[in-house]
Amino acid sequence: MKRAAEKLTGASVRGVKRVLTAGIALGQGALDCVYPRVCAGCGACDDSVRGRALCPVCADSAARVPSPVCNCCGIPITHPSGQGVCSVCLTERQYIRHCRSIFVYDGDTPLARAILAFKHGGTAGLAIDFAELMAAQLPAAASASDWDLLVAVPIHASRFRQRGYNQAQLLAGQLGKRLGVPSPAAVLLRQRATPPQHGSRAQRRRNVRGAFAVRRTAQVKDKRILLIDDVLTTGATLRECARMLLNAAAASVDALTLARVLRRSAPSQRS
Ligand SMILES: [Zn+2]
Ligand SMILES: [Zn+2]
Repeated sequence: MKRAAEKLTGASVRGVKRVLTAGIALGQGALDCVYPRVCAGCGACDDSVRGRALCPVCADSAARVPSPVCNCCGIPITHPSGQGVCSVCLTERQYIRHCRSIFVYDGDTPLARAILAFKHGGTAGLAIDFAELMAAQLPAAASASDWDLLVAVPIHASRFRQRGYNQAQLLAGQLGKRLGVPSPAAVLLRQRATPPQHGSRAQRRRNVRGAFAVRRTAQVKDKRILLIDDVLTTGATLRECARMLLNAAAASVDALTLARVLRRSAPSQRS
């Protein structure tokens, strides 16, 4: 009986050890899922990456949009007009009051690889780190009280089914948490898939015209809105979203994107 009990106790201890070891491994795995240790830009794998999208080397190499920028569309300018805006914003009607981007998107950089992984690689967890970068780099003059609502640029339902998430909504959600501003999902609806953006500015605007709708106008009426997207390539999509929000009686629309294309190195998927 005693031997049986010892046997049982020994077996139990071994079992508990196995469970504990498995539990610790599981905990480590879960931690790695939430806070990956692999840099999404270069693949470096160590503890300096945990909780960050990029390792310190890749984060330092990510180019910020250089100043000064057009006060309205946010494009870098060398000779601002008297109002601090570029020649386009000086002559054309703009729906977005202030549009800003944090990083320069270039097709072959660690940041671009990380953004592509975020968009297409199922690495939705990168939203936490990217939103932190966006919040940290908001212009000093901006404050959360400038906006009533964060609104994500929507993706088409077919793409949502394929991908399982809208990367812009994930960014808006995380940024909203940090700023204490609501970021409800699906404020805007993408009614049709739009072709990759090519051609003149007028053509690009025609491509997206009517592609978006406001689901419930009461949700945006009189609201000061900050539109959120991951990459700005031509600006036609953000412009059209802003136009629809203002049509639905939003008080004002600003825009913030994680990155923006400054040269002809655009990702073909979005505008
Ligand atoms: Zn790296
Ligand atoms: Zn401008």
